[in-house]
Amino acid sequence: MLSSKYDVVIGLEIHAELNTKTKVFCSCKNTFGEEPNTNCCPVCVGLPGALPVLNKKAVENTIKAGLSVGCSINNLAVFERKNYFYPDLSKAYQISQLVRPICIGGNIKLDNGKTIRINRIHLEEDAGKLIHKTKTIGTLVDYNRGGIPLIELVTEPDFSNADEAVEFLDKLRRTYIYSGVANCKMEEGGMRCDVNISVKPHDSKELGIRTEMKNLNSFKMVKRAIEYESKRQIEELEKGNKIIQQTRKWDDNKGKSFALRSKENSHDYRYFPDPDLLTVEITQEDVEKIRSTLPELAQDRIKKYVEIYNLPLYDAKILTNEKFVSDYFEECLNLYNNPKQISNWIMTELLKVLKDKPNCENLNEIITKENLVSILELLDSKQITRPNSKILFENICFTSKNAKDVAKELGMLSSLSDEEIKDFVKQVINTNPDAILDFEKNPNKVIMFYTGKVMALTKGKANPITTQSFIKEILPNYLKK
Ligand SMILES: [Zn+2]
Repeated sequence: MLSSKYDVVIGLEIHAELNTKTKVFCSCKNTFGEEPNTNCCPVCVGLPGALPVLNKKAVENTIKAGLSVGCSINNLAVFERKNYFYPDLSKAYQISQLVRPICIGGNIKLDNGKTIRINRIHLEEDAGKLIHKTKTIGTLVDYNRGGIPLIELVTEPDFSNADEAVEFLDKLRRTYIYSGVANCKMEEGGMRCDVNISVKPHDSKELGIRTEMKNLNSFKMVKRAIEYESKRQIEELEKGNKIIQQTRKWDDNKGKSFALRSKENSHDYRYFPDPDLLTVEITQEDVEKIRSTLPELAQDRIKKYVEIYNLPLYDAKILTNEKFVSDYFEECLNLYNNPKQISNWIMTELLKVLKDKPNCENLNEIITKENLVSILELLDSKQITRPNSKILFENICFTSKNAKDVAKELGMLSSLSDEEIKDFVKQVINTNPDAILDFEKNPNKVIMFYTGKVMALTKGKANPITTQSFIKEILPNYLKK
């Protein structure tokens, strides 16, 4: 295979929009989906005389993001102007950070034990958005997104393939969501990834020439783009061609990347400190205060679910994929200590319902934790059968009904008195006397046999646990005879 002669070297730059009430340098709201150009002001579009004021919450969230992936926090952070022209950037410069970002260092460990080093996380402002219409209308521009606080995480070139890159992205996404710094809604552009790729022959110590693909906004796109681009570069080298340093556009429909422009270096942007913004001082005290607010992160929960609750790693990952799902799991667990049973129900029943409700972010809207736990209690105490438990679930989804009341209404609960059950027990022993002979050798088998008979006779109305206890009580009398 061709690829076995080469090493693929990949680095990522990941942008995430921060969760704040307002934009990073003005008081416009930080929202998504407003009417175009209704959520901007002189500051975020850069009209003359408008001065930026730094949003403290955005700095705090950046520090929090950094602490959640093990970064060190710089005690002084500087904002710089990155100068370039593009129609979505009305100021012709973006306020960003080059020399002294807020966070440096840090890392994320992959499941295969490999550590991916983080170079930095810096805070900057997002640009507007171009909307490409038909040929006659042309391209429109919406500046609402301009000035939304954005953090950019830059990794070292530590990835060797697409799967490692996707795993890192997935872990980072969960970390940001759990720490509350960003929602990472990739479909809304809330998290975007730039990929740098180069290839080099195994025996070469020098890195190859790299290309960059920008703004990949789904894990699948990242995977396909990396696989395509590394294969393309290897083929070029095999043909004796040189790789050209360039920015390439990934076309997900065509499944190909195309040359866009020669890739810039940071000095091309003529960075200089923004004269309108002061250097930000971050004390150790500030950092420790923010560290104390860091909640339990997805990785911690996965570890807890596997090691303490004995769930399979696969289940733990699914449960923690969305924080609200994991929160619901834990709420149920507080009421009913059966992690496996709760996990199974969330994974099979609730997530199936959730698929059709993309805007739902609280599983209690589907079924309250109290009702789910009621169903599990009825099921585990064998007061209802498994098929009936599913019917009960369907009946109370999205209602305010009480699970136990509905089970009663639907006639699912065992409705026989103890005396009635005892009579049925005696009846099935009398009509099947031969089974008693096996009792000394195989008591459980005999008890199960009579339980089955009582269940059949009562059409499932008898509680099997009660029935079994009566069989154990009554059978010995028959043995003595
Ligand atoms: Zn504004």
